[in-house]
Amino acid sequence: MDPITIFIVATLMMLANGAVLGFMHKDLPVSLQPCAETWRIATLLLAGSAVLYAVQYELPLGLVSPMANGMVMLGCTGYWRALRQFDGVPDRWWMLLPAVAGIGGVVWFAGVRPDTPSRILLLSGVVAFVLMAGTLQLVRGGTGERARSRRALAGLFFLVGLFVAFRAAYFLVRRVGPSFDITGEGAWINAASPLVTALLPVVGTTAFLFMCSQRIGRQWELAAATDYLTGLANRRTLLAEGAKRFATARQGGTRLALALIDVDHFKAINDGHGHEVGDRALQHVADQLQASARGLDFVARHGGEEFVVLLDVAQHGDAHAAGERLRLAVAGTPFTTGGTSLPITISAGIAAQADGDASMDQMLRRADDALYAAKRRGRNRVEMAES
Ligand code: GH3
Ligand code: MG
Ligand code: MG
Repeated sequence: MDPITIFIVATLMMLANGAVLGFMHKDLPVSLQPCAETWRIATLLLAGSAVLYAVQYELPLGLVSPMANGMVMLGCTGYWRALRQFDGVPDRWWMLLPAVAGIGGVVWFAGVRPDTPSRILLLSGVVAFVLMAGTLQLVRGGTGERARSRRALAGLFFLVGLFVAFRAAYFLVRRVGPSFDITGEGAWINAASPLVTALLPVVGTTAFLFMCSQRIGRQWELAAATDYLTGLANRRTLLAEGAKRFATARQGGTRLALALIDVDHFKAINDGHGHEVGDRALQHVADQLQASARGLDFVARHGGEEFVVLLDVAQHGDAHAAGERLRLAVAGTPFTTGGTSLPITISAGIAAQADGDASMDQMLRRADDALYAAKRRGRNRVEMAES
């Protein structure tokens, strides 16, 4: 295949990918739509540049070269921007600097003072720089996201960036003349260029969509595991975590302890200030509990105005003291709403794992008895369950 044919095939594939992405991107969650849209525009820019390379003989070099090269530089910058958007990193004006400087340089070296080696060096430098920035974003960003698609895309960015740099070095060593053009016959590197350039719009787009799909999966998992109001672990996650700790504590010869916590006179807050204020009061209590948790303590919303804290006994030694700290954390930080301060207290029943306990459920039942005792004895109290 001659380079022109390869360019046309690559172009068609990029255009098809851009079109598919444009068609599908509304299926993505709103949070992912901006980066998918940027990715699509970048893909179309690269496709547009390939069209220009394919028809360059019909137009003057001084016009085609800045346009085609400019689209390549802007397209790669677009991919970099899409990756930053994916990671929630804000746009910065200086991200455009390499491409803008590159376009200015290409206009100069193509139209004003034709100089092919300088033009190639400039274009390659900008593209390699932007692709390496994209690689870095993929490697460094995305806290906790270790998706294979992310690593694959990082590898792809890096390889294409490396190829671009190698290509520039190749042409510099071979000392190309001013008549050089990218679609010219003879040089294997000219045939390889459109193929490598098409890797990002075609293979990269697939990897990018896999990244999006992995993100969606994670968000679903997170939503299923957490309580929407307080952001704490929900009951389902608590039971799973509790069962795990219950079993490992047994095997390790250590003990598990848990605090069952209930907000005192919570109905009065709802009745006196409305359900919405009640919701914010629950968030406040959740924040205090979370802030005073230590070590491996695990804080969860058990339901309604009830919370459970799995206590890291190795850290506390004394489960009762741990419960006291939770109680004081809530009692000591009043909840403020509309300029007024509402005192909130909690009562807690604490159960330590006993030899007779078959499951965490039994501990919860004993903690519930202790909680009832704490309520009866005046609230804002911590009571230990009998083992
Ligand atoms: P006690 O000290 O005996 O625990 O008194 P209490 O008023 O806290 O007990 P009660 O069980 O009578 O009231 C709990 C209230 O919590 C009733 C329910 O409407 C309210 N509640 C449960 N879940 C939510 C919620 O998600 N948001 C709000 N605002 N209120 C909730
Ligand atoms: Mg209750
Ligand atoms: Mg209550």
